[in-house]
Amino acid sequence: MKIIFYGLIILFFSQSAYSHDYIIRGRTDLPYIALTFDDGPRPETTRKILSILKKHRVPATFFVIGKQVKKYPDLLTEEVSGGHEIGNHTYSHSILTNLTAEKIKQEILLTEQIVLKISGKRTKYFRPPAGHFNYLVSNCANRLGYKTILCTNNAGDYFNAATKWRPSEKYIKSKILGNIRGGAIILMHDGTQMTVDMLENIITNLQKRGYKFVTVSELIEYKSLAGKLPDKPLKL
Ligand SMILES: [Zn+2]
Repeated sequence: MKIIFYGLIILFFSQSAYSHDYIIRGRTDLPYIALTFDDGPRPETTRKILSILKKHRVPATFFVIGKQVKKYPDLLTEEVSGGHEIGNHTYSHSILTNLTAEKIKQEILLTEQIVLKISGKRTKYFRPPAGHFNYLVSNCANRLGYKTILCTNNAGDYFNAATKWRPSEKYIKSKILGNIRGGAIILMHDGTQMTVDMLENIITNLQKRGYKFVTVSELIEYKSLAGKLPDKPLKL
């Protein structure tokens, strides 16, 4: 009886640990950082972002909205051909904590199918819209084979319609650069002109401090990073 009781406790905790499986950052002892762009593709900003990334040879991860990809498939193709990674940010950017398991899965799978059809690649990372997630959301993502990716540094680079608050350049810069460390996952938005205007400066600032940019996949695959450590000590 005792064995069954303890067995059930272990099963409960292992199941809940699995179901809440999400990633916030990579290793802090390595100088790698992942830039991520949510909510695209957008005709007004995606190409501008891609051009800056290309100029500085920086790979990034785009967490795309399925509905937007359907409207602008060429922009997704350009992201992929530029060597960037594509993550899943649902089909309609709904707040998933308000939905049933069936609807949550639909939101993820629809985007997966659209991206697969256009790029031939299956998305494997997922980011919940507006950061809203709970046991059900992360469990649905896990069951579909996804890793949920959150962030360490949220640029806050968007207009808040509810509070009518618009961030300043100074605010965004402090959110990104203020407490940066190795292993950071930076969340910015595709569709914000201010982000485009600041991107080059942010990239060069971080490069001067010794950081290297990688995709989300590279950031969390420790072993593949181990062989790329720079020779000299870093000023982090
Ligand atoms: Zn979003």
